[in-house]
Amino acid sequence: MKRRISIFGATGSIGTNTIDLIARQGGADAFDVRVLTGGRNIETLAEQARALGASVVVTAYPDRLELLRAALAGTEIAAYAGPEALNDAAREPVDWAMSAIVGAAGLAPTLEMARHAGTLALANKESLVCAGPLLRAVCAAHTTRLLPVDSEHSAIFQALGSAPKSEIERIIITASGGPFRTWSREQIAKASLDEALNHPNWSMGQRITIDSASMFNKALEVIEARALFDVEPQQIEVVIHPQSIVHSMVGFTDGAVMAQLGPPDMRGAIGFALNYPERLDLPVARLDFGAMARLDFETPDLEKFPGLGLAWEAMDIGGGAGAVLNAAKEIALDHFLAQRIGFADMAGIVAEVLHELADDAAAINPGDGIAQIHLLDARARGMADAVIAARSGRSEKKAI
Ligand code: NAD
Ligand code: MG
Repeated sequence: MKRRISIFGATGSIGTNTIDLIARQGGADAFDVRVLTGGRNIETLAEQARALGASVVVTAYPDRLELLRAALAGTEIAAYAGPEALNDAAREPVDWAMSAIVGAAGLAPTLEMARHAGTLALANKESLVCAGPLLRAVCAAHTTRLLPVDSEHSAIFQALGSAPKSEIERIIITASGGPFRTWSREQIAKASLDEALNHPNWSMGQRITIDSASMFNKALEVIEARALFDVEPQQIEVVIHPQSIVHSMVGFTDGAVMAQLGPPDMRGAIGFALNYPERLDLPVARLDFGAMARLDFETPDLEKFPGLGLAWEAMDIGGGAGAVLNAAKEIALDHFLAQRIGFADMAGIVAEVLHELADDAAAINPGDGIAQIHLLDARARGMADAVIAARSGRSEKKAI
């Protein structure tokens, strides 16, 4: 029997890397590809669906459906569009599902995948940041195996092995430090979009690349680690490691530290989740320790990267604070991408929204259901827009 699989966010950076591995492991001969989803990139989505003989494809955007159906003419592949179609497709029973939509838009389909997939390979970290306890509870109720795809969390999962929670002393998440690691605060404040997109080690989607430069990505990953591994906020450390070879580490109660190492290639973590519990040959470079010569580590500078510190503030607030932080961050990122605000403005905007909504966020139990999270997410987005409008009003006045 072929393994039934779905890939949500198939056209993105994680999605195309996943498809690369699927193709190398036999493609349509080895896998029964049930669902592929994408956004605006219809050409890639249709090409992937034809190559893998997918049953269903979904674009997130209804205005692209006609184009998608035209691109699939002459095939039996069914095409749908819109958020509800994504949720429906996520209810398709499969053995393995990859959740690789970017942003909070991935939460609802991910929860459906958690109900209907044997294994959920989770790249969409926002699901855990917004609703970690809910996603964990759904996976437990449906005996769905949850495997992290974020390289750091895959590393932690691998380093943990079968150790019980009581033996974990700390989790040490590595961060490359991004393109601005050695820049001054003043230089970072003036960073352009192109400079922020110039990641030194990893090739990723545009949004996560900017989040890496601001270290908001690491903030999300800290909350993601707490949600996945059930540790206290003070048990999580972040260390800058510019070479991105050590993907993360676990420190145990006896002082021993286990690290997972590999080249900065997401196909390592994706392939681990695809083949778990086996390890198959993956097309990733092998580390040459003689050539590597050195591995560096340094403490992150929270003054230069204030976004990172907000992870612990959000965890202290608890409840739905992760959803607030993520939503405000997504809006700030939209405005930075549109070049309406500066790079360093993003952290201040997110902090303001997080503080403003702290009491409301604390009052929510994210294990209760998705409705409250969606409401809070919408409020945080509205407030972030208002904060940005107020700030630009102030700066215009100053200019006059
Ligand atoms: P990407 O931007 O390259 O791709 C995102 C995918 O989601 C695309 O298929 C796009 O069409 C789809 N999409 C975008 N907006 C959507 C919406 N509103 N509704 C439905 N689909 C939508 O992103 P990526 O870099 O592949 O990242 C995907 C996820 O994986 C993110 O959560 C990211 O944080 C996480 N992740 C990525 C990497 C990486 O190396 N790229 C590493 C770790 C974690
Ligand atoms: Mg990561």
